[in-house]
Amino acid sequence: MGDSKNMGLNTICAHVGEVKDEQFKGAISPLYMSSSYAYENVDVKRYPRYFNTPNQEALGKKIAALEHTESGMIFGSGMAAVSHCLLAFLQKGDHIVLQKTLYGGTYNFVVEEFHKFGIEYSFTDGFSEADFRRELQPNTKVIYVETPSNPLMLITDLQMISNIAKEHGLVSMIDNTFASPVNQNPADFGIDIMIHSATKYMGGHSDICAGAVAASSAHMERIWNLSKNIGGSLSDYTVWLLERSLKTMALRVKAQNKNAKRMAKWLQQHPLVEKVHYPGLKDHPDYDLAKRQMRGFTGMLSFELIPSVDAEAFMQALQLIKQSMSLAGVESTILSPAKTSHALLSAEERAHQGISDKLLRFSVGIEEKKDLVNDMEQAFHKVAKSNAVMQD
Ligand SMILES: *Cc1c(COP(=O)(O)O)cnc(C)c1O
Repeated sequence: MGDSKNMGLNTICAHVGEVKDEQFKGAISPLYMSSSYAYENVDVKRYPRYFNTPNQEALGKKIAALEHTESGMIFGSGMAAVSHCLLAFLQKGDHIVLQKTLYGGTYNFVVEEFHKFGIEYSFTDGFSEADFRRELQPNTKVIYVETPSNPLMLITDLQMISNIAKEHGLVSMIDNTFASPVNQNPADFGIDIMIHSATKYMGGHSDICAGAVAASSAHMERIWNLSKNIGGSLSDYTVWLLERSLKTMALRVKAQNKNAKRMAKWLQQHPLVEKVHYPGLKDHPDYDLAKRQMRGFTGMLSFELIPSVDAEAFMQALQLIKQSMSLAGVESTILSPAKTSHALLSAEERAHQGISDKLLRFSVGIEEKKDLVNDMEQAFHKVAKSNAVMQD
């Protein structure tokens, strides 16, 4: 196998990090379900919770190649990846600066668990350099971001974050789930640790729960030292399924990028839509920044309906596009952040974050655009009609 640095994305997806079938010369990686292996020597003790079975190790190499790092590791869920990374670099008395808007599970992990470990934290007020610098303390060890953010698709400047981290000797971490390695490689800007919920674009078929981390070998050793004690590894069978999914990741995500951009433009001109949030639209506040640090703008977008349209009724009226809490599958899904991911916030806090009851998050799949448009059009037609009846 050649050096993955010179390979194109689809080639990495299809070829790098495979287990070679020496015995039968099969085309794909054999699946090793053994939880018990003979000692090779004192240094190599293979065991699923040590994250070093043949399938785990091979897939780690694919993750590393995709994220332009030396090393990759697979976890039992996105939250296992998030929590293991945070705890590997933070201890009693340390402080972390976290971006204001984060995945709900990450936010909960920080506010519900960190006090038990004596770890201090601050959330920023916004996304600017000043917002991050303001929260730095003498005991700050880690800076943590998520870009594009959920659900408004705001962009954090990766070069700016990496500069702050280097200046202050901090470890920088990003939850790169929304972008996927197809659209964004934060390591190219000097970010240290890339975290993924592989449940999303990496899995891509809404049938796997997994996590992945990419980092330098030195950083990964520190993560591994913690992880083997906590034990958030993934079953080899699911590792093998994830490898299968990753082979088509770039094809899927590029198709989703394209669909999302076309749907964003279509929604933007629709009379029942107030506003569309998509970093690939020229009127998005972070369009230039997104263009600088992303190769594609993802399959995720959100939009606000005009005040007279009932968002709940609109979602209920959709037939092809299903309501779903998760995202990034090949099938298009939709949800109301106010009713789901941000339901626990007060109405004032939601308003402060710009999340209205009319806002819907749309995870665009690989369907034909005309079918997505037809589904939305018939749903708009239904809610517009019931509005008219109510006003009579
Ligand atoms: C889903 C998600 C997670 C958590 O991943 P799980 O696989 O559900 O544990 C973390 N970050 C982001 C951005 C996500 O969308």
